[in-house]
Amino acid sequence: MKKTVRDIDVSGKRVLVRCDFNVPMKDGEITDDIRIRSALPTIRYLIEHDAKVILMSHMGRPKGEPKPEFTLLPVADRLRELLGQEVLFVASDQVVDEAVTAAAKALPAGQVMLLENTRYRKEETKNEEPFTGQLAELGEIFVNDAFGTAHRAHCSTAGLAKYMPAVSGFLIEKEVKFLGDALDNPERPFVAIMGGAKVGDKIPVIENLMKKVNTIIIGGGMSYTFFKAMGLEIGTSILDEESIDLAKDLMAKAKDMGVEMLLPVDTVCAAEFSNDSRKTVVDRDQIPADMMGMDIGPKTIDLYKKAIAQAKTVVWNGPCGVFEMPSFAEGTRAIAQALAESDAVTVIGGGDSAAAVEQFGYADKMTHISTGGGASLEFLEGKELPGIACLEDK
Ligand code: ADP
Ligand code: MG
Repeated sequence: MKKTVRDIDVSGKRVLVRCDFNVPMKDGEITDDIRIRSALPTIRYLIEHDAKVILMSHMGRPKGEPKPEFTLLPVADRLRELLGQEVLFVASDQVVDEAVTAAAKALPAGQVMLLENTRYRKEETKNEEPFTGQLAELGEIFVNDAFGTAHRAHCSTAGLAKYMPAVSGFLIEKEVKFLGDALDNPERPFVAIMGGAKVGDKIPVIENLMKKVNTIIIGGGMSYTFFKAMGLEIGTSILDEESIDLAKDLMAKAKDMGVEMLLPVDTVCAAEFSNDSRKTVVDRDQIPADMMGMDIGPKTIDLYKKAIAQAKTVVWNGPCGVFEMPSFAEGTRAIAQALAESDAVTVIGGGDSAAAVEQFGYADKMTHISTGGGASLEFLEGKELPGIACLEDK
């Protein structure tokens, strides 16, 4: 267990908080502020406990130099609205300079300031000096609450922990609790649903989950690599050629370990990768040579729903079909609905899976939707995330 802001005296201290304010922007406007809102519980706690709150984040990929389109100024504006109080933003192309340092040192208790985009500095993503030391100069306590970048060892996500006491914020605490409990302490039966485009990306996750689950359900584009491994014809479906042998291995391993592996039994095929394409539903051994699998079929949906209905814990990563196209969204929607209607602990990891659950309106029915795409995948792989490993243990 990692220490959190609750386990340390923050009163009157300058607290450096790494948030994930990497919000989507269009024409200088924030199009979705969920990441900012997810950071508020920690920020509010620090304000209420009289800390001097200094916020840091990256946004986009300015690649180590100041680029005006990646300024955090719009984030400062939004934070002001959401917090209902002043948020000092001392814009500096260097992120930290004399004016920023002076402002941080003069910040009154209960007040908030935001630094400019940490990735304006080339040292940031390499976790190098002098940037870490310059940031460290500003604060007395380091709080990491950026789950979305916790799988990266950067100056502002991990490097700072060498300089001062380091604890987690509430968002990281929550992510570790739900993802960690699901993996290490699941109520059984424990079912994992894996989908998405490529098996290659997900092999380490499948391997780690297989050690823990009772049932693993395969959907989405990766199904066709498994079909190929079974000797079936898959037409023009997405194929991860290099992973055919791995898919074979995984099926054999599942058998050896006594893990039930469910693969689609039927599939919705299309002539083209397009929402308006001609489509047809076929059993998995009947995929026409000139068509591609785009979604799981109705028999598969029934089969998967039954497995989900019996589960006490479900972890889901990766959509079951090309859910971005309404014609091929039904499989993913039905699985999301099955999870929403289940009493099981339901944990969603992965950016597109989270977007799908959101899009179909089931977000508030899930136990936990991870805010970190890549970070949640690495967590599910069983890797130690450097932005969490660097924090003090309880
Ligand atoms: P996550 O972000 O949840 O980890 P991935 O990024 O692995 O998920 O996969 C999501 C993508 O997989 C989606 O863009 C979806 O369209 C694609 N996908 C799902 N099924 C298929 C399929 N049958 N053919 C091609 N792409 C697919
Ligand atoms: Mg994705």
